[in-house]
This record gives sequence, structure tokens and C-alpha cells, in this order.
Amino acid sequence: MSKKKTPPKKAAPSKSSAKAKNVAKKPVKAASKPASKKPQPPKAAPKPVKKPAPKPVKKAAKPAPKAAKKPVQAKKAPAPVKKAAVPPAKKVAPTAAKAPAPAKKAVKPAPQPAAKPLPKPAPTPTPAAKAPAPKPAVAAAVPAPQPAPAPVVEAPAPAPAPPPKPEPVKSAAKSSAPAPGPTKSGALFYDSHMHTPLCKHAWGEPEEYAQQAIKAGLKGIIFTCHAPMPNGFWPTVRMSESEFDTYVALVQRAAAAYKGKLHVCLGIESEWFPGYEDYIRQLHERVEFDYVLGAVHWQAKEYLAKFESGTIENFRRIYFDHLAKSAETGLYDCLAHPDLVKNYHPDSWCFAIIKNSVATCLDRIAATGVAMELNTSGLNKSYSEMNPGNEMLRMMAERKIPIVVGSDAHRAQRVGEHFVTALNNLTEAGYEHVSYFQKRQRIDLKISDVLASLKKAADHNA
Ligand SMILES: [Zn+2]
Ligand SMILES: [Zn+2]
Repeated sequence: MSKKKTPPKKAAPSKSSAKAKNVAKKPVKAASKPASKKPQPPKAAPKPVKKPAPKPVKKAAKPAPKAAKKPVQAKKAPAPVKKAAVPPAKKVAPTAAKAPAPAKKAVKPAPQPAAKPLPKPAPTPTPAAKAPAPKPAVAAAVPAPQPAPAPVVEAPAPAPAPPPKPEPVKSAAKSSAPAPGPTKSGALFYDSHMHTPLCKHAWGEPEEYAQQAIKAGLKGIIFTCHAPMPNGFWPTVRMSESEFDTYVALVQRAAAAYKGKLHVCLGIESEWFPGYEDYIRQLHERVEFDYVLGAVHWQAKEYLAKFESGTIENFRRIYFDHLAKSAETGLYDCLAHPDLVKNYHPDSWCFAIIKNSVATCLDRIAATGVAMELNTSGLNKSYSEMNPGNEMLRMMAERKIPIVVGSDAHRAQRVGEHFVTALNNLTEAGYEHVSYFQKRQRIDLKISDVLASLKKAADHNA
């Protein structure tokens, strides 16, 4: 993997880059499929989709004015999911024996024509796409008609016109939708961060993740696999552009299989890297996501090559500046593992040294209304602590930044892992509510209710 070489100059992040990897974390332990001890790309790609052609994307109708989060997409691009892309439906967990995916022409994410970022995919007329079909063919029978949160009306402010007055951006930014109630089993909460084998460093079929979620007492899960990026940007840890439709179909397959038992939703962990905003924006409009999780991955060799200079603290400050910048793009609902950079030379991580920079970063994020994630997988990383740590969590709570909890599971057994601890950490940090997203609308729940629901539902399903 590229990270092997990431540590170019610095001492030797070998250790950090190797394990700190949110991405490419070494196999935690014997997973159900011992097959490969080594993070071997389990290419589970059900089938090689052959059309990398950038889908017709709705023209950026979105202004992405900082501060004001998008006012909920009005209409979706004709979600071009290829009807044929749906992977084998029935097989609910044949994982291990996953047929050695046809050694598709490697990871090459179909180099876009242009040698530079922002491949403006010209609205290619898709076969039948033009039809008003608001939903991907496959979707039809999928997403449980669940809690379609009422079309909350929020301060849109779509017009890029310069706001006449500095309104209280924060509250206007993103209001929450009414929270649906618990299921019969008492389940109420969602795990909002997990992956699929398409990213080449996650194991297990989506249905296995769903099964684990039920055991964990969850009401739903949101898949947020690593989004494709153009021009060969760190291709070894993400689906290729041509696999995007397969990804959507994969999640929809699981959603259909678990309909009525668990709400399986579609999200995406979308890389933020300066200069790629147009590409990212268009990607987000390709289908109707429930949740778009922004992520700044310092481990990308492209990131290190461009920003790793100066002192370690300087690098970390740059990271936090980028975190705020990513929120200010208006492209994301939430920011993943917000202090991931503590795994860069974890032995020297010292929050006190950069606390002021973090405070500035959080002030900026708070002004956008974008939520932040409490990622429980941090406990498995080189700097063993959830992301973010408790001190930063308190600073986030002080600024009333909405918080979402995610396991960042790359293996089914991690779904919902450490959620009780996470929720207790939130309470100690000063939070009273925790959130998740549906149709890109935030839904807030009382932490006390969530805690009670996890136990109740888990017992019920035991
Ligand atoms: Zn990540
Ligand atoms: Zn990952």
C-alpha cells in the first residue's frame, strides 16, 4: 500500500503510518475469515462495472456558501445506477469464500482524461437516465420507507449573494429533523460509519455488518465507504470510480435484505483534499446519500507530500486548518475522526501544544453548523484513544457542535463497538444529544434515550 512509503522524510512514521491508518488498519484479529492476515485487498467487487464514465451530474446548483449548509438537495440527478450492477442478491454472507474477484485491471481508477483534478464530467446522456425516475432502478425496492424525516425547512440561503448581515450562522446552518421513534425492539440509534470490501481494506459483506448491528441493539447503519477520487489519488484504499455504482447497489441489496429488521442507509466517506472540490461536489450529487462524511486523511501520500514540512506541530496545525476548511466548503454533513492527526508520530502527540489551534478550528467549524464525529475505532489505532479525545470533545460540546457516533468498522464485528463508552464520554464532555443523518438531515436524540435503547434492543435481540 502506498502508506508503506508514505513516511518520506520525517523520522519514521512507519509505525504511525502503518497502524494509524484509519484506513488500512491491520486486521484487528482473527476475523471470521482468517484468510489473509495481511490487509489484502479482498476485492469483493461483485462484478466489474465497465463504465467509468462520469455520470451525468447535476450542475452545481449548490452554492456551497460557507456557513450555510446546503438546504437539502432539492432534486437528485437521475441517479444513474446501472440496473445490472446489482451484485448477487441472495448470498447473505458467503464472504470468506468470496470468489477471487476477477483480477480486474487493477486499481487504476480509470485515469480521467484530464491530467488535472476536477474532471468536469460532461453531463453524459445516460441510456434511459433522462427519465424523471427520481430513484435508481435498484432503489425501488430498497431503503425501507423509514423515517423519511419531514422535509424540514431550514434557512437555505442558497443564493451565493453576499449576505447582507452576518446572521447567527450557526443555528441557521443546519437544524435537525424530528426524531423518529424506536423500533419494536426498542432500537433507536445508528452506527454512522462503516465500510465495504470495495475500499480494498475492509472485510465482510454488508449483510454481515447489518447482522452485527442488530445484535448491538441498533436501529440502523449507514455505510460510508471511501469515495472514489480522480487522477489516481491514493487508489489503494478506495473504490474506483467505475465501482461507484456497484457500491450503491451493494448497500441497496443489504437494505432490501434487511428491510423491516434494520435500516440500512447509504452514505459515503468523502475525502477532502484542496483542489478537488468540484469533483467531490459532483460525486455527492450522483445519488441521494443519507449522509456525507467528510474526511481529511493525512496519511495519503499526496497529503504528506504536499503538507508535511516544518515541525510536527506545524503539520498538525495544518491538519486542523484543513479540517475547518473542509467544513467551510459546505460539502459535508459531518467531519470524520477529527483528530486523526494525533496518529502522526503518536508518541509525541501533545494536545496542550496545539490546543489554541484546535480552538480556532472548532470555532470555524461551529460557525458552519457541520457536525463532527466521535469515532470509536481510534481505540485501535496507534494513539489509542477515540477520535477525538475527551478534551477536544469538551471543546466541541462548549461550541455546541453536533456530534455523530461511528465505529468506522472495516469488519462486521466492529459495528456498534464501544458505543456505550462513547456515549458516556459524550455525556462527560457536556453533550446531552447525539445525532445521525437521514437524507442529509440531522436527527438529534437524547443520549440518555440512546443508552437505554442500546441495552433494551440488544437484550431483546439476544
Ligand atoms: Zn477515514
Ligand atoms: Zn478505511
